[in-house]
Amino acid sequence: TRSLDELVSQFSVHRSTSPLPVEERVALTASPKFGTVFTDHMTRMTWTVDEGWHNRRVEPYGPLHMDPAAAVLHYGQEIFEGLKAYRHADGSVWSFRPEQNALRYALSARRLALPELPVDDFLGSVAALVRTDVDWVPSGEEASLYLRPFMIASEVFLGVRPTHEAEHLVIASPVGPYFDKGVHPVNIWISRDYARAGRGGTGEAKCGGNYAASLLPQQEAGKRGFDQVCFLDGGQTPALEELGGMNVFFVHDDGTVVTPALSGSILRGVTRSSIIQLLTDRGLTVREEHLTLDALRDGLEKGRIVEAFACGTAAVVTPIGRLADNDFDVTINNGESGTLTMDIRRELTDIQYGRRPDPHGWMTRL
Ligand code: PMP
Repeated sequence: TRSLDELVSQFSVHRSTSPLPVEERVALTASPKFGTVFTDHMTRMTWTVDEGWHNRRVEPYGPLHMDPAAAVLHYGQEIFEGLKAYRHADGSVWSFRPEQNALRYALSARRLALPELPVDDFLGSVAALVRTDVDWVPSGEEASLYLRPFMIASEVFLGVRPTHEAEHLVIASPVGPYFDKGVHPVNIWISRDYARAGRGGTGEAKCGGNYAASLLPQQEAGKRGFDQVCFLDGGQTPALEELGGMNVFFVHDDGTVVTPALSGSILRGVTRSSIIQLLTDRGLTVREEHLTLDALRDGLEKGRIVEAFACGTAAVVTPIGRLADNDFDVTINNGESGTLTMDIRRELTDIQYGRRPDPHGWMTRL
């Protein structure tokens, strides 16, 4: 395996001649609204059938020049990732299990018939950007630099077949704490009318189309007064899958923790797998299972489910205070944040921000 220095050195850096003045950058990064502010640079690589991946570069952040017939604009051949760079108290900058995002990016690419980006190039492209824009990595409680690698089918061609040309880019956005008013429980609407993914579909891939499919259900749940939607698997006996952008966990009164199994239509959340590990380290039993809606409802109504939470890179761990669908409406833990939920949230963020030892070697210095 090559060192990160070596991987980064593959990228030529073309610095912006008009970076944001320091005072403006400081003002913008003080309390940015999630995903609205972007750094001075972006990383970029090009792929063609003949040349493979080439032209590794960091260039000034700016609009893409795209032909209106570029395949991505018509058939949605696109994938993305989401991870963060964290500043530790000594000023050093780290990311959390980035190789897991690299592997998932390759899995997504395969499913969308896009070229796989080697893990080394994924890590190199992320680190090259973070090192170039390192002054943009915020410090402060739960602030970080959100990193968004993505790949698009750039071939100018109207025809339904895999692209012969693609671009891989990484952009970065300084983000403050996900919740302005601190962590508080969210209300979840379980969608029986819409599915986000199905057997054999693209649910396990992180592709734009999955998120497009989640918007209308999310909008309708919002009108009903709910914060997020939980999607089902679309089967005869409906089973729980995940939220539009987070995985879910349920804590039982006997201390066991249950999360929907990776069925092939659920995203392999990096936070999900890390939480399973941390819970197991505590001696708790974690079951990954086919969690039917009937079993969930039974557990909720009999009071056996005592805590519920959602998890993902952006919001880390979010307590769930209420779950409802057309037929039931149940409050969990009196609508308050659960103890185990908040404990595991703290443990995870402590590792990410370097406030406690990293027992599994999850952190990579960028
Ligand atoms: N499910 C979906 C659909 C998501 O978009 C995300 C966010 N990437 C997650 C789960 C959580 O994944 P992770 O913990 O890797 O951020």
